[in-house]
Amino acid sequence: MINDTRLAEEFVAHGRVDDCPVIDTHAHFGPYQAIYFPRWRPERVLDTMDRCNVRWLIMSAHAALVDTARGNREVAEIVAAHPDRIRGYWVINPNYPERLQRELDEFDAHAQTPGQASSPPAFVGFKFHPNQHGVPLNDERYHPALEYADARGLPILSHTWAGRGMSSHAEVREVAERFPNVRLLMGHAGYGDWEESAKVARDHEHVYLELTAAYSVRGALEIMVEHAGSEKILFGTDHPWFDPHYGIGCILSAYMTDEDRRNILHRNAERLFGLPLD
Ligand SMILES: [Zn+2]
Repeated sequence: MINDTRLAEEFVAHGRVDDCPVIDTHAHFGPYQAIYFPRWRPERVLDTMDRCNVRWLIMSAHAALVDTARGNREVAEIVAAHPDRIRGYWVINPNYPERLQRELDEFDAHAQTPGQASSPPAFVGFKFHPNQHGVPLNDERYHPALEYADARGLPILSHTWAGRGMSSHAEVREVAERFPNVRLLMGHAGYGDWEESAKVARDHEHVYLELTAAYSVRGALEIMVEHAGSEKILFGTDHPWFDPHYGIGCILSAYMTDEDRRNILHRNAERLFGLPLD
Protein backbone atom coordinates (compact mmCIF):
# COMPACT_ATOMS: atom_id res chain seq x y z
CA MET A 1 0.00 0.00 0.00
CA ILE A 2 1.54 3.28 -1.04
CA ASN A 3 -0.69 5.60 0.94
CA ASP A 4 -2.39 5.89 4.29
CA THR A 5 -5.60 7.69 3.38
CA ARG A 6 -8.78 6.88 5.25
CA LEU A 7 -10.22 4.84 2.36
CA ALA A 8 -7.04 2.79 1.96
CA GLU A 9 -6.76 2.06 5.68
CA GLU A 10 -10.42 1.09 6.08
CA PHE A 11 -10.58 -1.11 2.98
CA VAL A 12 -7.45 -2.94 4.10
CA ALA A 13 -8.74 -3.34 7.66
CA HIS A 14 -12.29 -4.44 6.82
CA GLY A 15 -12.38 -5.41 3.12
CA ARG A 16 -15.12 -2.83 2.63
CA VAL A 17 -16.01 0.73 3.62
CA ASP A 18 -19.62 1.32 4.56
CA ASP A 19 -19.75 4.92 3.32
CA CYS A 20 -17.90 4.09 0.09
CA PRO A 21 -20.18 1.80 -1.91
CA VAL A 22 -18.92 0.43 -5.22
CA ILE A 23 -20.71 0.13 -8.56
CA ASP A 24 -19.26 -2.52 -10.86
CA THR A 25 -20.15 -1.39 -14.39
CA HIS A 26 -18.63 -4.34 -16.28
CA ALA A 27 -19.55 -7.85 -15.18
CA HIS A 28 -20.69 -11.08 -16.80
CA PHE A 29 -23.02 -13.88 -15.89
CA GLY A 30 -22.71 -17.61 -16.24
CA PRO A 31 -20.04 -20.24 -16.85
CA TYR A 32 -17.57 -20.03 -19.73
CA GLN A 33 -16.00 -22.79 -21.75
CA ALA A 34 -12.61 -24.14 -20.67
CA ILE A 35 -12.30 -22.11 -17.48
CA TYR A 36 -13.53 -22.77 -13.95
CA PHE A 37 -15.19 -19.84 -12.20
CA PRO A 38 -15.73 -20.51 -8.49
CA ARG A 39 -18.12 -17.58 -8.02
CA TRP A 40 -20.43 -17.21 -11.00
CA ARG A 41 -23.66 -18.55 -9.46
CA PRO A 42 -26.04 -15.85 -8.19
CA GLU A 43 -25.62 -16.62 -4.48
CA ARG A 44 -21.82 -16.43 -4.85
CA VAL A 45 -22.08 -13.22 -6.87
CA LEU A 46 -24.15 -11.65 -4.10
CA ASP A 47 -21.70 -12.90 -1.46
CA THR A 48 -18.74 -11.34 -3.30
CA MET A 49 -20.65 -8.08 -3.62
CA ASP A 50 -21.43 -7.99 0.10
CA ARG A 51 -17.84 -8.70 1.08
CA CYS A 52 -16.53 -5.56 -0.65
CA ASN A 53 -19.69 -3.40 -0.51
CA VAL A 54 -20.40 -3.58 -4.24
CA ARG A 55 -23.84 -1.98 -4.15
CA TRP A 56 -24.69 -2.60 -7.82
CA LEU A 57 -23.36 -4.93 -10.49
CA ILE A 58 -24.18 -4.39 -14.17
CA MET A 59 -23.73 -7.55 -16.20
CA SER A 60 -24.13 -9.18 -19.58
CA ALA A 61 -24.38 -12.95 -20.03
CA HIS A 62 -21.48 -14.92 -21.46
CA ALA A 63 -24.11 -16.91 -23.35
CA ALA A 64 -25.44 -13.72 -24.94
CA LEU A 65 -22.17 -13.18 -26.77
CA VAL A 66 -22.97 -16.25 -28.89
CA ASP A 67 -26.76 -16.60 -28.41
CA THR A 68 -28.24 -13.20 -27.67
CA ALA A 69 -31.80 -14.46 -27.08
CA ARG A 70 -30.78 -17.05 -24.51
CA GLY A 71 -28.18 -14.93 -22.74
CA ASN A 72 -30.26 -11.76 -22.53
CA ARG A 73 -33.10 -13.85 -21.12
CA GLU A 74 -30.74 -15.27 -18.44
CA VAL A 75 -29.82 -11.76 -17.35
CA ALA A 76 -33.49 -10.67 -17.29
CA GLU A 77 -34.12 -13.56 -14.89
CA ILE A 78 -31.28 -12.77 -12.51
CA VAL A 79 -32.22 -9.07 -12.45
CA ALA A 80 -35.83 -10.02 -11.69
CA ALA A 81 -34.57 -12.16 -8.79
CA HIS A 82 -32.28 -9.40 -7.42
CA PRO A 83 -33.78 -6.08 -8.54
CA ASP A 84 -32.12 -4.18 -5.69
CA ARG A 85 -28.53 -5.27 -6.59
CA ILE A 86 -28.18 -6.22 -10.27
CA ARG A 87 -28.82 -4.60 -13.66
CA GLY A 88 -28.15 -5.86 -17.17
CA TYR A 89 -26.64 -4.89 -20.49
CA TRP A 90 -28.52 -6.12 -23.55
CA VAL A 91 -26.00 -7.75 -25.87
CA ILE A 92 -26.19 -6.79 -29.55
CA ASN A 93 -24.70 -9.08 -32.19
CA PRO A 94 -24.44 -7.04 -35.41
CA ASN A 95 -23.90 -10.12 -37.59
CA TYR A 96 -27.64 -10.77 -37.87
CA PRO A 97 -29.20 -7.55 -39.15
CA GLU A 98 -32.45 -9.37 -39.94
CA ARG A 99 -32.92 -10.08 -36.21
CA LEU A 100 -31.82 -6.73 -34.94
CA GLN A 101 -35.11 -4.84 -35.14
CA ARG A 102 -36.92 -7.56 -33.23
CA GLU A 103 -34.21 -7.57 -30.58
CA LEU A 104 -34.43 -3.78 -30.23
CA ASP A 105 -38.20 -4.12 -29.79
CA GLU A 106 -37.61 -6.72 -27.08
CA PHE A 107 -35.14 -4.42 -25.36
CA ASP A 108 -37.78 -1.70 -25.55
CA ALA A 109 -40.29 -3.96 -23.80
CA HIS A 110 -37.78 -4.59 -20.98
CA ALA A 111 -36.96 -0.90 -20.80
CA GLN A 112 -40.63 -0.20 -20.03
CA THR A 113 -40.49 -2.58 -17.07
CA PRO A 114 -38.84 -0.93 -14.10
CA GLY A 115 -36.50 -3.20 -12.17
CA GLN A 116 -37.84 -1.56 -9.04
CA ALA A 117 -40.09 1.42 -8.31
CA SER A 118 -37.34 3.93 -7.55
CA SER A 119 -34.69 2.72 -9.99
CA PRO A 120 -34.05 2.29 -13.70
CA PRO A 121 -35.22 -0.58 -15.91
CA ALA A 122 -33.80 -4.10 -15.85
CA PHE A 123 -31.45 -3.33 -18.76
CA VAL A 124 -29.58 -0.04 -18.54
CA GLY A 125 -28.07 -0.13 -22.04
CA PHE A 126 -26.30 -2.23 -24.66
CA LYS A 127 -23.13 -4.29 -24.65
CA PHE A 128 -21.03 -4.46 -27.84
CA HIS A 129 -18.11 -6.79 -28.39
CA PRO A 130 -16.66 -5.82 -31.80
CA ASN A 131 -13.66 -8.15 -31.50
CA GLN A 132 -15.60 -11.25 -30.54
CA HIS A 133 -18.23 -10.56 -33.20
CA GLY A 134 -15.68 -9.64 -35.86
CA VAL A 135 -17.38 -6.34 -36.71
CA PRO A 136 -15.53 -3.03 -36.22
CA LEU A 137 -17.23 -0.58 -33.85
CA ASN A 138 -17.59 1.97 -36.65
CA ASP A 139 -19.14 -0.55 -39.09
CA GLU A 140 -22.59 0.40 -40.33
CA ARG A 141 -24.01 -2.90 -39.09
CA TYR A 142 -23.93 -1.30 -35.64
CA HIS A 143 -25.86 1.75 -36.82
CA PRO A 144 -29.43 0.60 -36.05
CA ALA A 145 -28.47 -0.06 -32.43
CA LEU A 146 -26.43 3.15 -32.23
CA GLU A 147 -29.29 5.19 -33.69
CA TYR A 148 -31.69 3.63 -31.20
CA ALA A 149 -29.34 4.42 -28.31
CA ASP A 150 -28.63 7.91 -29.62
CA ALA A 151 -32.32 8.78 -29.70
CA ARG A 152 -32.67 7.73 -26.05
CA GLY A 153 -29.30 8.79 -24.60
CA LEU A 154 -28.58 5.18 -23.64
CA PRO A 155 -25.26 3.88 -22.29
CA ILE A 156 -23.33 1.36 -24.39
CA LEU A 157 -20.45 -0.64 -22.94
CA SER A 158 -18.14 -1.69 -25.75
CA HIS A 159 -15.04 -3.82 -25.55
CA THR A 160 -12.12 -1.57 -26.59
CA TRP A 161 -8.44 -2.40 -27.04
CA ALA A 162 -5.24 -1.05 -28.57
CA GLY A 163 -4.69 -1.21 -32.31
CA ARG A 164 -6.73 0.37 -35.04
CA GLY A 165 -9.30 -1.60 -36.96
CA MET A 166 -11.77 -3.14 -34.55
CA SER A 167 -12.41 -1.25 -31.31
CA SER A 168 -9.58 1.19 -30.64
CA HIS A 169 -9.75 4.83 -29.55
CA ALA A 170 -9.86 5.81 -33.25
CA GLU A 171 -13.11 3.93 -33.87
CA VAL A 172 -14.54 5.18 -30.56
CA ARG A 173 -13.79 8.77 -31.54
CA GLU A 174 -15.56 8.32 -34.88
CA VAL A 175 -18.66 6.78 -33.28
CA ALA A 176 -18.71 9.37 -30.47
CA GLU A 177 -18.74 12.18 -33.01
CA ARG A 178 -21.44 10.61 -35.14
CA PHE A 179 -23.70 9.63 -32.21
CA PRO A 180 -23.29 12.43 -29.64
CA ASN A 181 -26.10 11.29 -27.33
CA VAL A 182 -24.86 7.75 -26.80
CA ARG A 183 -23.02 7.40 -23.49
CA LEU A 184 -20.07 5.33 -24.60
CA LEU A 185 -18.22 3.27 -22.03
CA MET A 186 -14.81 2.21 -23.31
CA GLY A 187 -14.48 -1.26 -21.77
CA HIS A 188 -10.84 -1.91 -20.73
CA ALA A 189 -10.18 1.82 -21.38
CA GLY A 190 -8.75 1.08 -24.84
CA TYR A 191 -6.23 -1.27 -23.21
CA GLY A 192 -2.66 -0.37 -24.15
CA ASP A 193 -3.41 2.93 -25.89
CA TRP A 194 -3.91 4.61 -22.51
CA GLU A 195 -3.15 8.21 -23.35
CA GLU A 196 -4.94 8.37 -26.71
CA SER A 197 -8.01 6.66 -25.23
CA ALA A 198 -8.04 9.04 -22.26
CA LYS A 199 -7.99 11.95 -24.69
CA VAL A 200 -11.12 10.63 -26.44
CA ALA A 201 -12.87 10.63 -23.05
CA ARG A 202 -11.48 14.10 -22.33
CA ASP A 203 -12.70 15.47 -25.68
CA HIS A 204 -16.21 13.99 -25.48
CA GLU A 205 -18.42 14.67 -22.51
CA HIS A 206 -20.35 11.42 -23.19
CA VAL A 207 -17.34 9.04 -23.42
CA TYR A 208 -16.06 7.20 -20.33
CA LEU A 209 -13.12 4.94 -19.53
CA GLU A 210 -14.01 1.63 -17.86
CA LEU A 211 -11.21 -0.07 -15.93
CA THR A 212 -11.57 -3.84 -16.39
CA ALA A 213 -8.12 -5.40 -16.94
CA ALA A 214 -6.42 -1.98 -16.92
CA TYR A 215 -5.49 -2.52 -13.26
CA SER A 216 -2.69 -4.89 -14.19
CA VAL A 217 -0.62 -2.19 -15.90
CA ARG A 218 1.33 0.06 -13.57
CA GLY A 219 0.78 3.74 -14.24
CA ALA A 220 -2.28 3.31 -16.49
CA LEU A 221 -4.70 4.65 -13.87
CA GLU A 222 -2.56 7.72 -13.28
CA ILE A 223 -2.43 8.43 -17.04
CA MET A 224 -6.24 8.27 -17.19
CA VAL A 225 -6.68 10.59 -14.20
CA GLU A 226 -4.17 13.04 -15.67
CA HIS A 227 -5.60 13.17 -19.19
CA ALA A 228 -9.33 12.47 -18.73
CA GLY A 229 -9.95 13.25 -15.04
CA SER A 230 -11.40 10.95 -12.40
CA GLU A 231 -14.92 12.14 -13.34
CA LYS A 232 -14.60 10.15 -16.59
CA ILE A 233 -13.47 6.82 -15.14
CA LEU A 234 -15.73 3.93 -14.10
CA PHE A 235 -15.01 0.89 -11.96
CA GLY A 236 -15.49 -2.52 -13.59
CA THR A 237 -14.07 -6.01 -13.14
CA ASP A 238 -15.33 -8.55 -15.69
CA HIS A 239 -16.61 -10.48 -12.66
CA PRO A 240 -16.51 -13.54 -12.39
CA TRP A 241 -13.21 -13.38 -14.28
CA PHE A 242 -11.75 -11.02 -11.67
CA ASP A 243 -12.64 -10.24 -8.09
CA PRO A 244 -13.63 -6.68 -7.12
CA HIS A 245 -11.16 -6.69 -4.21
CA TYR A 246 -8.31 -6.75 -6.73
CA GLY A 247 -9.59 -3.75 -8.69
CA ILE A 248 -10.39 -1.80 -5.54
CA GLY A 249 -6.90 -2.54 -4.21
CA CYS A 250 -5.30 -1.18 -7.38
CA ILE A 251 -7.33 2.02 -7.14
CA LEU A 252 -6.35 2.40 -3.47
CA SER A 253 -2.69 1.91 -4.39
CA ALA A 254 -2.61 4.29 -7.35
CA TYR A 255 -1.46 7.90 -7.02
CA MET A 256 -4.72 9.82 -6.68
CA THR A 257 -6.88 11.37 -3.95
CA ASP A 258 -9.72 9.74 -2.03
CA GLU A 259 -12.06 12.12 -3.88
CA ASP A 260 -10.81 10.66 -7.19
CA ARG A 261 -11.34 7.17 -5.78
CA ARG A 262 -14.92 7.93 -4.80
CA ASN A 263 -15.60 9.33 -8.27
CA ILE A 264 -14.35 6.09 -9.82
CA LEU A 265 -15.83 3.64 -7.32
CA HIS A 266 -19.35 5.01 -7.20
CA ARG A 267 -20.11 8.69 -7.93
CA ASN A 268 -19.71 8.63 -11.72
CA ALA A 269 -21.73 5.45 -12.21
CA GLU A 270 -24.41 6.64 -9.78
CA ARG A 271 -24.88 9.74 -11.92
CA LEU A 272 -24.59 7.94 -15.27
CA PHE A 273 -27.02 5.09 -14.54
CA GLY A 274 -29.25 6.76 -11.95
CA LEU A 275 -28.77 3.86 -9.54
CA PRO A 276 -29.63 4.73 -5.92
CA LEU A 277 -26.92 4.16 -3.31
CA ASP A 278 -29.05 4.03 -0.16
ZN1 LIG B 1 -16.17 -8.19 -20.31
